[in-house]
Amino acid sequence: MEEIVINTGSQTSRILLGEKLQNLHQYLSQGKKVIIVTDTNVKKHYGQLLSRWPVITISTGEKNKTLQTIDRIIGGLVKQEADRSSYIVGVGGGIVCDITGFAASIFMRGIRFGFVSSTLLSQVDASVGGKNGVNYSGYKNLVGVFNQPDFVICDFEMLKTLPKKEFKIGMAEIIKHGAIKSLSYFEYTEKNMSEALNHNTDVIHRLVKESVLIKAKVVETDERETGERKKLNFGHTTAHAIEKIAPINHGDAVALGMIVAAGLSVKKGLLSPADAERLKNVIQLAGLPVKMNLPKTKLFAAMRKDKKRDNDSISFILLDKIGNAVIEKISIKELEEQLDDLC
Ligand code: NAD
Repeated sequence: MEEIVINTGSQTSRILLGEKLQNLHQYLSQGKKVIIVTDTNVKKHYGQLLSRWPVITISTGEKNKTLQTIDRIIGGLVKQEADRSSYIVGVGGGIVCDITGFAASIFMRGIRFGFVSSTLLSQVDASVGGKNGVNYSGYKNLVGVFNQPDFVICDFEMLKTLPKKEFKIGMAEIIKHGAIKSLSYFEYTEKNMSEALNHNTDVIHRLVKESVLIKAKVVETDERETGERKKLNFGHTTAHAIEKIAPINHGDAVALGMIVAAGLSVKKGLLSPADAERLKNVIQLAGLPVKMNLPKTKLFAAMRKDKKRDNDSISFILLDKIGNAVIEKISIKELEEQLDDLC
């Protein structure tokens, strides 16, 4: 087991790499009422290990990441007679963690909480960094707060029950972290992709650790995303537009988004074509798409609605080499040409 501490100045968060769900009780104070929030899938696999605590179970899927679910959780907390000293633990993927952190942050003006992170995406990204919230009326994560969990258990054994397509979503974020922040991490990912896909625990430990270290550093310097943290959105501007118009999972959308951003980086004279090709290759190694049949007009329309748009240009995260991201303005025309190539 290895521990990384994130310190934002006002809060600290312990990320426990390779810790086990079975040891959760060791991180909870004696005498406090503990309530678990999980989803139906995770409960099916791990419910027995949670049986000593009351459990609030939510339905799976992005469509349930809503204020209605928060309402149900608050109702569950009231039923359990939770008070200001009670403690909530979210056991699940990014959706459970985002929802649990938000519910804990608003119940009785805020009670403390921790996570057991059970998907690769939540271990390398979602459960780390203190962004909690829910979607509203089709807008992703529109309502939420910044609040760090006390601890995040990253149990690599739990990833063995994770469906393959969910595992690949996490790989897309891992590739992103190397591409924007660390050439050596990118190289490690390239070399060890097949081991990672075969659930080699040592490789997964290293990948989660490197990603958490990158995210921790960014969050410590820019918790509220006023500058540096924006670079974590590499590939995500296009990904969010694709997700709005097509039934596609987040990992596939991020992969396509990174291809678009790399193409724009080359066109801007920032990135070498060889580096763009290298990024494309590692995306393919992970079994993620690099091209897709998408309805162009709808995609353009969705991109034009992006909240980072400013008249005829949009703020975009590009690469000037593998391992370094830059924020540049891209004209809508340049973007549409690039999307044309993708489709
Ligand atoms: P998810 O939480 O929906 O989990 C994916 C699926 O895997 C679900 O069906 C879940 O029930 C199942 N599952 C979870 N753990 C399992 C396990 N160990 N074995 C078997 N099945 C398991 O999805 P996700 O990809 O983990 O997270 C996506 C969410 O994370 C999105 O809502 C996104 O907005 C959010 N996110 C948040 C941040 C942040 O900084 N807060 C960052 C990135 C993503």
